[in-house]
Amino acid sequence: MESLWPRIEPLLAHVTKPARYIGGELGAQQVVHGPDAVSWLLVYPDTYEVGLPNQGLQILYEILNERDDAAAERSYAPWVDMEAAMRAAGVPLFSVENHVAASEFDVVAFNLSAELVYTNVLNLIDLAGVPVRSADRTAADPVVMAGGHCVFNPEPLADFIDCFVLGDGEEVVSECNEVLAAFRTGDARTAGGDRTALLRALSRVPGVYVPSCYDVAYDGTTGRLAGITPRFDDTPARVEKRTITDLGDWPYPKQQLVPLIEVVHDRLNVELFRGCTRGCRFCQAGMITRPVRERPADQVRTMVSAGLERTGYDEVALTSLSSADYSGIEQTVTGIIDDPSCGGQVSVSLPSLRVDAFTVGTAAQIQRVRRTGLTFAPEGGTWRMRQVINKLIREEDLYAAVDAAFSQGWKRVKLYFLIGLPTETDEDTLGIVALAKQCVAIGKRYHSSVTVTASVGGFVPKVQTPFQWFGQNTIEELTRKVHLLRDAARPVRGLTIRWHDPKATAAEGIVSRGDRRMGAVVEHVWRNGGTFQEWSEYFDLDLWTDALAANGMTLEDAVYRHRTEDEVLPWDHVSAGLHRDFLWQDWKDALAEHGLPDCRWTPCYDCGACTGYGVEHVVASAVPPAGGSQGTGQDLSSGGQVPVRFLSTAPSGAAPAEVPGGSAVALATEGRG
Ligand code: SF4
Repeated sequence: MESLWPRIEPLLAHVTKPARYIGGELGAQQVVHGPDAVSWLLVYPDTYEVGLPNQGLQILYEILNERDDAAAERSYAPWVDMEAAMRAAGVPLFSVENHVAASEFDVVAFNLSAELVYTNVLNLIDLAGVPVRSADRTAADPVVMAGGHCVFNPEPLADFIDCFVLGDGEEVVSECNEVLAAFRTGDARTAGGDRTALLRALSRVPGVYVPSCYDVAYDGTTGRLAGITPRFDDTPARVEKRTITDLGDWPYPKQQLVPLIEVVHDRLNVELFRGCTRGCRFCQAGMITRPVRERPADQVRTMVSAGLERTGYDEVALTSLSSADYSGIEQTVTGIIDDPSCGGQVSVSLPSLRVDAFTVGTAAQIQRVRRTGLTFAPEGGTWRMRQVINKLIREEDLYAAVDAAFSQGWKRVKLYFLIGLPTETDEDTLGIVALAKQCVAIGKRYHSSVTVTASVGGFVPKVQTPFQWFGQNTIEELTRKVHLLRDAARPVRGLTIRWHDPKATAAEGIVSRGDRRMGAVVEHVWRNGGTFQEWSEYFDLDLWTDALAANGMTLEDAVYRHRTEDEVLPWDHVSAGLHRDFLWQDWKDALAEHGLPDCRWTPCYDCGACTGYGVEHVVASAVPPAGGSQGTGQDLSSGGQVPVRFLSTAPSGAAPAEVPGGSAVALATEGRG
C-alpha cells in the first residue's frame, strides 16, 4: 500500500490544525499490512477533535490490530479547508497512520453516533473515490460498513452502506474479519470478484444487517412503508443486536490514544459499565444498550492506574450512561484518589451524573483534587413531566445534589433539560426556570456569587424507545418555548439559559425516523454542499427542506406526524432486544403519567433486553448506590438503601426471588462483590 504522504505534506502548510492529519499519537499502532491480513479503515465522520476520543472506535482499533489476520488504521473527516486542498490536488481520503488511500482498504467502517453526520459519511465515501451508492460498487471497491447507536434505524443510509453492525462490536468485528479473510486471496478483495457472495456471507453473521439482502415494499394507496423482508432463505427476517455478556472480558482500550492537539474529552476515559435500566423514555442510549454490565471494581482501578501512568493525564473520567449508579462508586473514586500509583493528584470526573445518586460523599470525593464543572440532568421541569419521561427524580433529589455540590465548594452548576416532550404544557416548560432559580438560591447560602446554567435541548423522538411514535414539536413551537424560558429567566441573577437551535432539532428529526427513501434527501443535502451539519456555522435548514421538497416529502409528514400503533416502522426489522409491545405499553404508560421503576432494583418487567438474549445484569458490587430515590420516586435516603436483595447466583432465566415487602429481583452478582 503506497503512502500518500509526499502529496499530503505540501498541503498542510495551508490548512488550519495540520496536526489533525499526521498521526503518530501516543497509543497509535504500528500498522503493517500484509497479504493475509484484512485491512480496515475505521472512520469517524467528524473532525479529529471530535472523533479521536471516541472509545468505540479505539476499542475496535485495538481488537483488530491484536489479530494476525487484520490490520486497522483510522481516519477522520478533513475540515473544509483541507478537503478543498485535497480535492484540488487530487488527494483522496487517507489514513492517519500510514497515509494510505481509503480505497485501498478492504473495509471502510464508519462510526455513526449522530444523524447530522450522515452527509459527511457520503462526502467521505466520495472523497475516498468509492461510488457513493452501494449498488454501483464492484469487487474492486472496499466493503463500506457502519456501527454505532444510529444504526438502530439503518434505513436512511441503506443505499450507501453495504452492511451495518448492531450493538456491541467487540466480538462481531472479529467474526466479520473471519468472513472477509475467507473471501480474500492475496491482493484480491473477493475471490473471483464475487462481492454479492461476500455480502451474503456477512449477512449470516449474527448482528449484521446487509440492506441489499432485503426487499422494501410500499403501500400503493397510502405511500407508507409496507414492509422490509429478506430476499433469501438464509437471511434473518429480523436482525438482533450483539451483546457482550461480561465487560470484564474486554479491558479496552488498553492504550488510549493521546491526541496531538486539544480534543473534546481530553483525559483518560475508563468505562465503568455499559447499559442503563433507569428507563428514561426519551433516552435511546439507555434503551439500546441494556442490560447493565458493570466492569469489576479492581479492573477499573487497574485500568485507571495503568492508563494514567502510560498517558501522563492527571484527569480520569469514569464513563457510563449514569456513572453515579455504579455499585460502590464512592469506594471506587476514593480508591483512585488515594492510590499512590495514580500519583496522588488525580482528578476524577463522573460524566452523566444522576441527580438522585449523587451524595455529599461523592461530591466530597471528586472535589478533593480539583473542582471541575458539575452537570446534572433533571430533563423535565415538573414532577408530572418527569413521570411522563420516567426520569423519577424528585425536586428534593435535585436540591440535595445541588446543595451537596455547593456545600463542597462548587460555584458553578449546569442543568440539562429537554423541551418539546410528549404532553408538555407551558407549566412544565416554566418549571425549568423554577427549579433552576431554586438551585441559585441554594448556592447563595454558601457563596455570594454562583452560576446556574440551564441548557435546554429540543426533543427528537428516537427509534427503539417508547417515544418513537411521538410527533416532534414544530420549529415554531420550540422557539415559542425558548422565548418563554428566556423571558422568565431574565430577572433571575445567577441564572443563564442556553438553548439548542430548534432548526437543527428539526433537521435531526428528518433523518432519525426516515425510511429508505430518506437516503435521497441525505444525498441531495450533500450534493448541494451540506457537510458538517452538526456545526452551527455550516448547518443550513433550507438545504434540508429543499431536499425534502425535491423528493416529495414534507416536515409535517417526516417529523411532526405521530406514528400509529399499526404502522410499519422503518426499523422494525432490526432489534435492540426491546419487545415492540413493551415499548408500546410504555408509551401508553407515559401518556398516563405512570412511571416505571429501575429493573435493577425492582422486578423484571420483561422488556426483552435480557430475557430475549439469555443475559442478565452484571454488577460489580453487592452494595447498591446509596441515597436519593434511586429512580423509585420515594424517599430512600434514610437508610440509603433500595428494596433489593442480591442473589449469589442466578441462572439465566431464573425466576425472580422474593424480597422483603413483596418486591422481587432477578439479579445475578456473577461471583463478584
Ligand atoms: S429484561 Fe427485565 S431486567 Fe432486563 S433490562 Fe428488561 S426489564 Fe430490566
